[in-house]
Amino acid sequence: MTVRVRIAPSPTGTLHVGTARAALFNWLYARHCGGEFIVRIDDTDQKRSTSEYEENILGSLRWLGLDWDEGVEVGGPHGSYRQSDRFQRYREVAEGLVETGAAYYDDRPTDELEALRQQAQKEGKHPGHYIRRPEQSVTEGVIRFSIPQEGPIAFDDLVRGSVSFEPQDVDDFVIFRSNGTPTYHLASTVDDVDYRITHVARGEDLLPSTPKHILLTRALGAEVPVYAHLPLLFGIDGKKLSKRLGAASLATYEDEGYLPEAVFNYLSLLGWSLDGETEIFSREQAVASFDLIDVSKNPATFDPEKLAWMNGEYIRAMSTDHFSQMVRPHVEGAVGRELTDDEWSRFEEISELVQERTKLLPEAGEQVVFLFNDIESYDEKSWAKVMAKDGVTDILEAARGALAELTVWDKVSIEKALRAMIEELEIGVGKALQPIRVSITGSSVSPPLFESLAALGRESSLERIEIARGMLG
Ligand code: GLU
Repeated sequence: MTVRVRIAPSPTGTLHVGTARAALFNWLYARHCGGEFIVRIDDTDQKRSTSEYEENILGSLRWLGLDWDEGVEVGGPHGSYRQSDRFQRYREVAEGLVETGAAYYDDRPTDELEALRQQAQKEGKHPGHYIRRPEQSVTEGVIRFSIPQEGPIAFDDLVRGSVSFEPQDVDDFVIFRSNGTPTYHLASTVDDVDYRITHVARGEDLLPSTPKHILLTRALGAEVPVYAHLPLLFGIDGKKLSKRLGAASLATYEDEGYLPEAVFNYLSLLGWSLDGETEIFSREQAVASFDLIDVSKNPATFDPEKLAWMNGEYIRAMSTDHFSQMVRPHVEGAVGRELTDDEWSRFEEISELVQERTKLLPEAGEQVVFLFNDIESYDEKSWAKVMAKDGVTDILEAARGALAELTVWDKVSIEKALRAMIEELEIGVGKALQPIRVSITGSSVSPPLFESLAALGRESSLERIEIARGMLG
């Protein structure tokens, strides 16, 4: 049997971390088993679904490096993989279920149903408990699925083990609305049946829907897929993941300069681990050992700082050439123009040092803008902390003097000259070097100073020290 798994995003928002993790686990499982990964679009909510969101979602899946064998954009043997194209199919199924007696029309007004709900609640029963087939049948209204009242609805979840629901706790849910649209339950189940999905791996928040889907699948005479409910994601505050805590759309990670390999690696750890120990591993390693059965049922924590750390690890693992190439657009973005190859060689002089200090690609831009643009304004905090101090004028004058004498302008000579100056002034190294750093980079945080001076060049370095000295009066 070929494993067939799917992700079914609703294009009512951008691709968020939870759906991305579910997509990734499905993809890993498909690739591990030599199976098929299908991407379909759950757009039954036509008011909230947009093609922009769909593009965002598919773009982010591709950015993560996920490819799919069937589905939107790539096609496949099942016609359209967009639910809005299949309303007729869902209608036929719903009407067919009415014919076999598995479902019924219900035209009871909402207030009547509400009264039933409240009564159930008063009696401490599941709110949907009383919503059952009325005695009198009608031919219009919504179509409800009639829950068979025999035996528990039980299944073996690959993640959660054996799970069981009492039929009394599942209401006769709506499968088709009177406005001609299917509900999520119907559309999702019909798609899973029609597309011959063998394993449904999705977020645990959907667990309450599963007994409904199982009963529907049985009523359709199809084989029930294997379910795997993936653990919920929490933020570092222990609350369910919210936008504020880095659960924003995947596209923002791309914009912020995260590497897809790092995000892929990090997401794969949200509920799964390679060997309980190794945190950084390749896509191939993950594919080789991933199995849904190994997914933990404990909630996973999404920690943006850990993701940033991991991104830094991936950046450091790159060759310096590759790093230079990746970072160039970010540097040019920060500088505000394209750089000539000559200018770029200035960056390359210190690229290794920048690489070591970069967790996110755009940070590299900020670190080296000083190489290409005059300093328009000094970082206020740096100025207050470093420059507005006694003795800084003397330090800058001494530094300028020592550097001006150099005939060779490279790291070694610069370091030698400045260390000699420090000895002469009899002050601490930090105290002496920080004002020079602020003068030439505009900030007290920068790549290492001697190399920075070397890369900036003699003329600009001397000039900037002069300017800063002048500003001190
Ligand atoms: N459209 C649903 C969602 O985005 C998919 C649920 C499912 O996987 O069945 O949450």
